[in-house]
Amino acid sequence: MSTQSNKGTALVTGASSGIGAVYADRLARRGYDLILVARNRDRLASLASRLTTETGRSVEVIAADLGDDRGIANVERILDNDASITMLVNNAGVGATAPLLESDPAKMEAMIKLNVVALTRLTQAVAPKFVARGGGTIINIASIVAIAPEALNGVYGATKAYVLAFSQSLHHELSDKGIRVQAVLPGATSTEFWAIAGRPVENLPSAIVMSATDMVDASLVGLDQGELVTIPALPDIADWNAFEGARQALRPNLSHSRPAARLLANA
Ligand code: NAP
Repeated sequence: MSTQSNKGTALVTGASSGIGAVYADRLARRGYDLILVARNRDRLASLASRLTTETGRSVEVIAADLGDDRGIANVERILDNDASITMLVNNAGVGATAPLLESDPAKMEAMIKLNVVALTRLTQAVAPKFVARGGGTIINIASIVAIAPEALNGVYGATKAYVLAFSQSLHHELSDKGIRVQAVLPGATSTEFWAIAGRPVENLPSAIVMSATDMVDASLVGLDQGELVTIPALPDIADWNAFEGARQALRPNLSHSRPAARLLANA
C-alpha cells in the first residue's frame, strides 16, 4: 500500500539500525523511495522487506563499508548516477567514550574516516547534482558533542563539530541554489551506539536518554520548520539563537591588521 506521493529517493547511510533505520521508516511513510546503506546486508534486507510491504515504496539495499575507500566510492557512484535521488541522510557514524589518552589511535583514525571523510565525500558527490537539478536535501547527523566536546571522547566531539561547521558552510553556499541543509544534534539516544562506543545506554540516567523514534520524528519536524540546526531536546530555540548570535557577533572582529591591544607585548 502506497502512503504518499513520490518525493524521489532518499539515500540513508547507517540505515541498518538505530537512528538511520528510523529515518528509513519515516521517509518511506513520507513518500520517499529509499537506498539504504550500511555494512550489515541482512539487517538492511529485512528492513527493506518490511518497509516495502508496509509502504509500497521501492527500497534498495547497498552493503558498503564507509570506513573504506572502495565502499565510499561505491556510494559516490550511486549519488553521481541516480537522478532520482532528492535527499541524502549522512547518518552512519561511530562514537567513543574513553578519553584520548586511553584510546587506540587506529580507532580514532577509523572514526574520523567514517564520521568526517565519508560524510564529506558523499556530500560532495551529490551536491553538484542537486545544484544541477535545482533542489535537494542534505541531512547531516552531528551530535550535541559538536558544541559540548568535553562530554565524551574528544575526537568524537571534534568529528561532530566538523559536521556542524560543514553543514553551516553548506547552507551558506547552497541555500540560494534550492538546497536544504539540516544538521541534527541529538543528545543521548537509545541505540546500539552506546554499547559499541564502550558505555551501554542502560548506564546513562534515563532522564537524558531519548528514544530513536522521538529523536527522528522531532528532527523531521525541525526540517519541516526550516531549521538549519535542530537540537531535538532543546526546549527553547531562543537559547540556540542567542548562542549562534554571539558567534555571528564575533565576525567583524576576527580579522584585523593589528593584534588586539591586550596582546601587545609592551601594553
Ligand atoms: P547505531 O545504532 O550504532 O547505528 C550506526 C549505523 O552506522 C549502523 O547502521 C551501522 O551499520 C552504520 N555503520 C557503522 N559503521 C559503518 C561503516 N564503517 N560503514 C557503513 N555503515 C556503518 O547508532 P546510532 O545512534 O543510530 O548512530 C547514528 C548516528 O547518530 C551516528 O552518526 C552517531 O554519531 C549519531 N549520534 C548518536 C547519538 C546516540 O546517543 N545514539 C547521539 C548523537 C549522535 P553497520 O554496522 O551495519 O555497518
